[in-house]
Amino acid sequence: MASERLTIALICTECKNKNYYQVRGKKKEYKLELNKFCKKCGKSTKHKEGKA
Ligand SMILES: [Zn+2]
Repeated sequence: MASERLTIALICTECKNKNYYQVRGKKKEYKLELNKFCKKCGKSTKHKEGKA
């Protein structure tokens, strides 16, 4: 059986660093966009979903 899971990365929109990894279903109903802490920027920034 094919996996329905997909690993995605949460990428800082400011420095493009991949800070978080997350597993989600394959269905893409929406794009994730979250405010997360970026170690590289040293502050909370917007993170977008991208390829892991
Ligand atoms: Zn950053």
